[in-house]
Amino acid sequence: MRILSFDIGGTNIRAASADVGGQTGPVGRLGTPASDHKAFFNCLIDRIAQEPNPPEAIAISIAGVVNPRNGTMIAANIPAIHGTNFAEDLQQQVELPVYVSNDADCFAVAEANLGAGRGHDIVFGIILGTGVGGGLAVHGGLINRNGGYAGEWGHGPVSPRIAGDPPVALPSIPCGCGLSGCLDTVVGGRGLERLHEHLHQEVRQAPDIINGWRSKERSACRTMEIYLDVISGPLAMAVNLTGATVVPAGGGLASAHDLLVEIDRAVRPLTLANPDHPLVVPAASGPEPGLSGAALIAAQAMAQASC
Ligand SMILES: [Zn+2]
Repeated sequence: MRILSFDIGGTNIRAASADVGGQTGPVGRLGTPASDHKAFFNCLIDRIAQEPNPPEAIAISIAGVVNPRNGTMIAANIPAIHGTNFAEDLQQQVELPVYVSNDADCFAVAEANLGAGRGHDIVFGIILGTGVGGGLAVHGGLINRNGGYAGEWGHGPVSPRIAGDPPVALPSIPCGCGLSGCLDTVVGGRGLERLHEHLHQEVRQAPDIINGWRSKERSACRTMEIYLDVISGPLAMAVNLTGATVVPAGGGLASAHDLLVEIDRAVRPLTLANPDHPLVVPAASGPEPGLSGAALIAAQAMAQASC
């Protein structure tokens, strides 16, 4: 069975043919008509029509969440479909089954089946990108196949208000989700920059802060010490809660593997299991976990439907 897989972000759409095992062909790129409903659909429909071997299903990874109550999209970065029943609308137009999944959920499923989560029953995949995301896969399958917020460890008022040694007070920062004090506000790339600015009144980009930490710059080291203190408790709690035995990490910040080693070192002793093997590890499912994961989720849903 051939699946046409899309990975849709606020700026770009990537597309590739995929098989039921999540293996993808060459990847094409398109700009996202993020604010124009008609142009957005035409873009996808045109790409589907160009496929040399007509696909049997459309799988979509998207920077948004499907509201499990009514199937509508919550996608602030893509106003063209925000609040609409995207999957149903596209399905009607292309007359193919359409499966839409959150990008972090796709990442978790890709990692569980093709990456660092292989051989583990419970995989908690985390994204350390501009913000923070996460997804939970059990026995290779997503636990929230109908959408929803499972695995979203970045939101909720759980960010510590005091961290580091010596301790420093941290602000409770308003988050895009409507709450204040979310981990997302201080732990993604933007959060790391915010944390550094709060501590040192200095504006620096996240990669520059990480490089400063590598060079043992005092201010950057202090920021990273606070960062590790802030991220480790909530992540250990997520591990306890899910029973995950591996936490593959993806996204821009996670490309700093030395940072992941330090996060792992900080998190493991705070978990009840305190495993003797690395818990937080680099993603290993390849360069397109969104495309692979979306195809796997679609294939699993179709297999279940045909039982
Ligand atoms: Zn939030």
